[in-house]
Amino acid sequence: MEMVQSSKEAIALENKYGAHNYHPLPVVLSKGEGVFLWDVEGKKYYDFLSAYSAVNQGHCHPRIVGALKEQAEQLTLTSRAFHSDVLGVFEKYMSEYFGFDKVLPMNTGAEAVETAIKLCRKWAYEKKGISQNEAKIIVCENNFHGRTTTIISFSNDPVARKNFGPYTEGFIKIAYDDIDALEAALKEENVAGFLVEPIQGEAGVYVPQDGFLSKANELCKQNNVLFIADEVQTGIARTGELLACNYENVNPDILVLGKAVSGGVYPVSAVLANNEVMDVIGPGQHGSTFGGNPLAAKVAMAALDVIRDEKLADNAKRLGEIFRERMNAFIQKSDLVSLVRGKGLLNAIVINDTEDSSTAWDICVKLKENGLLAKPTHGNIIRFAPPLVMTEEQLHDCCDIIERTINDCTKSEA
Ligand SMILES: *Cc1c(COP(=O)(O)O)cnc(C)c1O
Repeated sequence: MEMVQSSKEAIALENKYGAHNYHPLPVVLSKGEGVFLWDVEGKKYYDFLSAYSAVNQGHCHPRIVGALKEQAEQLTLTSRAFHSDVLGVFEKYMSEYFGFDKVLPMNTGAEAVETAIKLCRKWAYEKKGISQNEAKIIVCENNFHGRTTTIISFSNDPVARKNFGPYTEGFIKIAYDDIDALEAALKEENVAGFLVEPIQGEAGVYVPQDGFLSKANELCKQNNVLFIADEVQTGIARTGELLACNYENVNPDILVLGKAVSGGVYPVSAVLANNEVMDVIGPGQHGSTFGGNPLAAKVAMAALDVIRDEKLADNAKRLGEIFRERMNAFIQKSDLVSLVRGKGLLNAIVINDTEDSSTAWDICVKLKENGLLAKPTHGNIIRFAPPLVMTEEQLHDCCDIIERTINDCTKSEA
């Protein structure tokens, strides 16, 4: 196999032979361990993105990689045409870990969201009694649930949608964090579900008001509508609780998980629900060749063991408070940052500039030069989401880098 010799060469290869569906920061990574990444030239960085919160357990966690290696030499894939000796163990583990009757394993977050939509619609026709093809699911403005044709049909990001129509019908869009809008939408006919991110990650780490999730959940119950939580990004200890819904004691009717379920080692996603909902799915009605394969199952169980045994939710909660305290103190002295928001270690700072300016991007390029990797999410917002295995000392080190970098950018602007 050919090896790249330099960052420049690696980037040139991607540009020439890969579809241009991403615009990465100009850094070429070749190694990861815990909270650190190294580029091909050997420069070391703090990871402050964690692969969009897929690597909550830190890069190449030995327990997770160990589980992968061990199972890889035993059995990797049977498909669901046959049983495996790992699947049932994994399903019991997942159901008990998250407190649901049953789980449906898939691979990517988008597939899990699609699964939740299908489950919700089928439940609507078979249990709620909605007439064929009439079921509607309420979604929120500025949502991010993935990239399939159905999911982008209810996105309002023009870049994600344009020229990919015709779009899938059956969605009602309301403002995020607007309980009155939800109440009004629930009065419409044939509503089957409400699909929501407990914190809108991609949109720029928008945290709803306290009480929004519990009130929304209550309204759904009153209207016999399924509350579907997409915790692909907020779940698995990221926000300081195992699930962001735990902050408001909300048990969703359908829980959607992905990303850090596998600690970033292998694509694993899952949908959890109780029997009343999950049992509407019968043989042949949904599936995936790789969903629930033995390798995925072993990796996910190890990754979730790590979350529990290393108390990563508690660490995320504690470090998140320190991070926001430091950033809030910094904002008092900096004109370039207007606010910090988030929960646990899912945070964002808003750069005091227009949304279409390049300031946030330029700051991220400078952060990279100073040894910390982060990326703007939308416009002038920079998401900060380090692996949850970070120590307090490392976090302070990172805050020093962020403050120094932004101060330098302020000077160069003046
Ligand atoms: C990343 C993400 C998805 C999509 O996951 P993929 O694995 O990229 O398909 C869905 N929902 C949310 C909230 C996400 O952050």
